[in-house]
Amino acid sequence: MEIIRIPRLMQDISRNYLIRTRKIGFVPTMGALHEGHLSLVRRSKEENDITVASVFVNPTQFGPNEDFRQYPRDIDGDSEKLQREGADILFLPDTGNMYQGGHLTHIEVEKITDKMCGAFRPGHFRGVATVVAKLFNVVRPTRAYFGQKDFQQTVVIKRMVGDLNMEIDVVVCPTIRERDGLAMSSRNAYLDRGQREAATVIYRCLQETSDLIKSAIIGIQDVKASMLERLLKEPAVSAIEYAGAYDPATLDEPVELKDDVLLAVALRIGNTRLIDNMLVTLRKER
Ligand code: AMP
Repeated sequence: MEIIRIPRLMQDISRNYLIRTRKIGFVPTMGALHEGHLSLVRRSKEENDITVASVFVNPTQFGPNEDFRQYPRDIDGDSEKLQREGADILFLPDTGNMYQGGHLTHIEVEKITDKMCGAFRPGHFRGVATVVAKLFNVVRPTRAYFGQKDFQQTVVIKRMVGDLNMEIDVVVCPTIRERDGLAMSSRNAYLDRGQREAATVIYRCLQETSDLIKSAIIGIQDVKASMLERLLKEPAVSAIEYAGAYDPATLDEPVELKDDVLLAVALRIGNTRLIDNMLVTLRKER
């Protein structure tokens, strides 16, 4: 596996692959890699000739009071894991390389970024969309791989790619979970033992609510209250940013049940912010 740090060099390498009609699969990450990230790498390897993974903790997607400084970093472990998975290139730029000479251009995806996480993290999706567009221009992937775990992010990236006519297939891969259901996340490392146990409430809440909707025990108007009640039973939950049902395309809160409904949660356990979601498909059940 090659490690490339300079965007210009990465562009040259990608251009050479593209000239030879190689398909480039791309997995953008912020590092501290776990099985969730590695599942994206495996999928990319199955579907492309070359797999590029990037590790870049992007400062512009963190708010002033967020965890940019503390965000877990383990570049030696990450490159070992990527090597083991057979990634071809690790793109590892530093902030200076990515944002040379100041930066006056940003990508703002409207409306869908005002909801869910966007409502609590102003500027977050602007930072995400901008850095992903830059990474796309550097790596020039045929396909790019994202996890369903960050559902809103996938909606934003797909929208950006469509609106800006980017010639990239956005592939959304399933959320990888720990045995007890907790979605894998680099931020899980912040949790102490008790908090880690308490965090299982999120997946239980999603599953139980999904069952209640599927068996028509609750209607769409009851989802939010039912989820909040379940989450608030766990004393370690220090704040709930949002919990409820959303339209997976528009991220609006639906007034009636359609074929697909997204259940999503963002909450804090201590200072650690955790998110998760579950897509509920009702088509077959009705
Ligand atoms: P991050 O390093 O947190 O920015 O995540 C990089 C990519 O990995 C994003 O597309 C995430 O959605 C994805 N990802 C993170 N956690 C998981 C998980 N548990 N399962 C699947 N994909 C994940």
